[in-house]
Amino acid sequence: MKHRPDNAVILFDGGDLKNWQRLEGGAAAWEVRDGAMTVTKSNIITLEKFTDAFLHLEFREPDMPEATGQAKGNSGVYLQGRYEIQVLDSYGLGLPGKGDCGAIYDQYAPLVNACKPPLEWQKYDVVFRAARVDASGSVTEQARITVLQNGLVIHNNVILFGPTGGAIDQNVGEPGPLLLQDHGNPVSYRNIWLVHLPCKGLDSYGPQPAP
Ligand code: MG
Repeated sequence: MKHRPDNAVILFDGGDLKNWQRLEGGAAAWEVRDGAMTVTKSNIITLEKFTDAFLHLEFREPDMPEATGQAKGNSGVYLQGRYEIQVLDSYGLGLPGKGDCGAIYDQYAPLVNACKPPLEWQKYDVVFRAARVDASGSVTEQARITVLQNGLVIHNNVILFGPTGGAIDQNVGEPGPLLLQDHGNPVSYRNIWLVHLPCKGLDSYGPQPAP
């Protein structure tokens, strides 16, 4: 089944890291092999920036049976470089908390534990609505997020409290990149794309007046 829409911006298709750079600047230096990229050194960000967007990505946890908690396959997906969806090996955990896989880090625990075992590919599908700011830059509406993990809803249009820890900045009214976190564990990613969403829709349904 075709999944990627025709208007998707491809961020990583398995070939190379030309759409990425190190957060600090310079070439992204993660290992690319067999159609996936793996955390190697430093956080990386996309050259593409976005506001409202639909994001798809796939990730794979390393098998770290001796590790526990935040040391077990930790990475993260930061929307606009500011809001982290946690990536962690939380497979089998009965009641995931605000630091476990799928959490909006330190803000919202996932509604259910949708994790697959380590070494299996998993998916995040994310609908992100960026924060709204007024002319002075003050936030009028915080960002919102809906997340599906492996096809299950784990966040239902939650209103974020603001950027999570490790955000690139606090300028929530500005477009930002996708950031993938280097937390020292060899987490892999593949098939990453987004669709920019219009910040405003039509005001009414049905036929629109001619321009
Ligand atoms: Mg993390």
